[in-house]
Amino acid sequence: MKGRDVIVIGAGVLGLSVAYHAALSGADVTVVEKAEIGSGSSSGNAGLVVPSFFEPLPSPGVIREALGQVLDPEGFFGIRPRLDPSLLRWLLQFARFSNRGHYTKAVNLFLRLNEEGLEDHLRMAAAAGGQYGFSQKGLLFLFLSQERFDEGKRKAERGSREGIASQVLSGDEVRDQEPGAGERVAGGIRYCKDAMLQPALFLQYLRNQAERLGAKILSKTEVYGFRKNRGRVTALLTTRGVHKPDQVVLATGAWTRTVGRLLGVNLPVEGGKGISLTFRNPQLALRQPLILDEHVAISPFPDALRVTGVLELAGLDMTLDPARVDGLQRKAAAYLPGVNALQPEEVWRGLRPCVPDGLPLLGRLRPYGNVIVASGHDTRGISLGLVTGRYVARMLNGESLQGLEKMLSPNRF
Ligand SMILES: Cc1cc2nc3c(=O)[nH]c(=O)nc-3n(C[C@H](O)[C@H](O)[C@H](O)COP(=O)(O)OP(=O)(O)OC[C@H]3O[C@@H](n4cnc5c(N)ncnc54)[C@H](O)[C@@H]3O)c2cc1C
Repeated sequence: MKGRDVIVIGAGVLGLSVAYHAALSGADVTVVEKAEIGSGSSSGNAGLVVPSFFEPLPSPGVIREALGQVLDPEGFFGIRPRLDPSLLRWLLQFARFSNRGHYTKAVNLFLRLNEEGLEDHLRMAAAAGGQYGFSQKGLLFLFLSQERFDEGKRKAERGSREGIASQVLSGDEVRDQEPGAGERVAGGIRYCKDAMLQPALFLQYLRNQAERLGAKILSKTEVYGFRKNRGRVTALLTTRGVHKPDQVVLATGAWTRTVGRLLGVNLPVEGGKGISLTFRNPQLALRQPLILDEHVAISPFPDALRVTGVLELAGLDMTLDPARVDGLQRKAAAYLPGVNALQPEEVWRGLRPCVPDGLPLLGRLRPYGNVIVASGHDTRGISLGLVTGRYVARMLNGESLQGLEKMLSPNRF
């Protein structure tokens, strides 16, 4: 490995995946994390591995849909009002990328990454032998209205032309498969290849594997500055000492803009705050994870049910809004009436790292010769974490991104 001594900043799913793959290819890896492992957005999420999510966030029609939600205090989409020019710039760029041409390019990219991402997950899960609850039982999208169900069918047809297998189920067929589903459910579409895992256990597994290969993981260690010389980062200033690595990887999720500023570069990552409610040992069993038409996911873990949703452009704000928390449970109960009676044991929030063109930031960061960015995976960091880590390990070795450089470049804005 060229430049063996690698520091990864951030111990979310991206940082740990990078650490694992880089250590596997022979690097001396240290991960520095300002809080605890998984304390960003990587542990309380829905844990879905979703090759069926092949559309970018900015897409034709999305602005109209978002405007319809933004004034609804319980809506799935929101913007935390603030006077911040970088938010305004982000929104304008997002609007610019919500066009057909960009959408088509992004779909092609995600089809490729999703397929590789699933293969990586299947390989790792086979080696892990059930340690983090990986299962590939498909993902069932549910609809309350016939009109939306018909739209869902059209999307599934588009997906099937791209090799994404799905099954259309009537309302009664949904209730046969999932007896907890209510009478209002008009129908469902099951994406057969999708999978799920328990995110906190997955992070623990990645951590163990990286450490087994010699990686060091330092929690409560925040990077607050960099020393630079002649187009290279020569040192990282952390709250627990100075590090002088050969190469640096930024896997800092929603904080990537802040860390970018320390390096004097613009990395337009906005926090898309999401919420999860975890109900322990509920009397409500599901055979497979669900996505409700209101952009709510329901993940059945062995001892818990987790309901996730909401995307509020919030910067780094972590406030929990009671209306959105209640709204999430109410929306889930419209499809699964049994959810009404449950009390969440944990209410969690996390910041999805969102980039205005909906694509990850992955590649070498100009003007530095030894800094790589791996961030901006918005709603798909669990799905694409492993494949991204594998690509970063290649880049650390001086190899190319195999045709993806331009689209994913962190210098593209
Ligand atoms: C409600 C919800 C549900 C979701 N469901 C899914 C799903 O089902 N499937 C899926 O694929 N994705 C899902 N996601 C998205 C997924 O969680 C994210 O894409 C993913 O967690 C991003 O990982 P990350 O490693 O980039 O960021 P993070 O997990 O946020 O990690 C970044 C880390 O960097 C650290 N850090 C930041 N700055 C510094 C610094 N200066 N020094 C040291 N450390 C620093 C932070 O403390 C943090 O731990 C969901 C997200 C949410 C919010």
